[in-house]
Amino acid sequence: MTSQRTRDRLIARLQDQGIRNFEVLDAIRSVPRHLFVDEALAHRAYEDTALPIGNNQTISQPYIVARMTELLIEAGPLEKVLEIGTGSGYQTAVLARFCKEIYSLERIKALQEKARKRIRALKIHNVVFRYADGSVGLAEKAPFDGILAAAAPAEVPRELLDQLAIGGRLVIPIGEQEQKLYRITRTEDGFQKEFVEDVRFVPFRSGLR
Ligand code: SAH
Repeated sequence: MTSQRTRDRLIARLQDQGIRNFEVLDAIRSVPRHLFVDEALAHRAYEDTALPIGNNQTISQPYIVARMTELLIEAGPLEKVLEIGTGSGYQTAVLARFCKEIYSLERIKALQEKARKRIRALKIHNVVFRYADGSVGLAEKAPFDGILAAAAPAEVPRELLDQLAIGGRLVIPIGEQEQKLYRITRTEDGFQKEFVEDVRFVPFRSGLR
């Protein structure tokens, strides 16, 4: 169920859906997604679908992880990255391969602890976990070359824009019933906003749990 063939099938599907970056495809091929879900769901880990991880949250669909990673890396090198919504840690593990350091914020303690253990077990050493409400970003570590939000707020949080470096980009789903994925790039004189596609994410919530 977690065989190379199953994983290859997932990669073929992502290519069919338009994921072109070979490094991203390779990252999806090599990060063991079955270790980021409960054992009972491990047999479905290489399906291109979101799966429950407890606390009403889901591990992101491989397609969306690949797409968001591609959107961040194709726009230039990534040194410092902020991720909002660690969840299972799967997106974190994929993104960690493309940046120098990544700060990953999660507001649900139980999820964060599990994610931290998985990332440590995989010997990924450039991730810093914070139990924090991501709606205010992480000012003390700003500016970031990339910010990725794995949950959808109704509007773009102003703090996240403020914490982008010039040339930095924020990849974020926006909206409640209908959500749209955007990439917002900070330029010398403002922000450039690109619509990517319609998406479905869990809601962005404020406060800690
Ligand atoms: N990409 C993750 C899935 C994330 S699900 C994966 O691959 O597993 C979205 C996560 O965002 C949830 O765990 C949720 O608790 C978290 N979240 C939502 N709003 C948040 C906020 N304001 N600050 C930090 N984390 C938040």
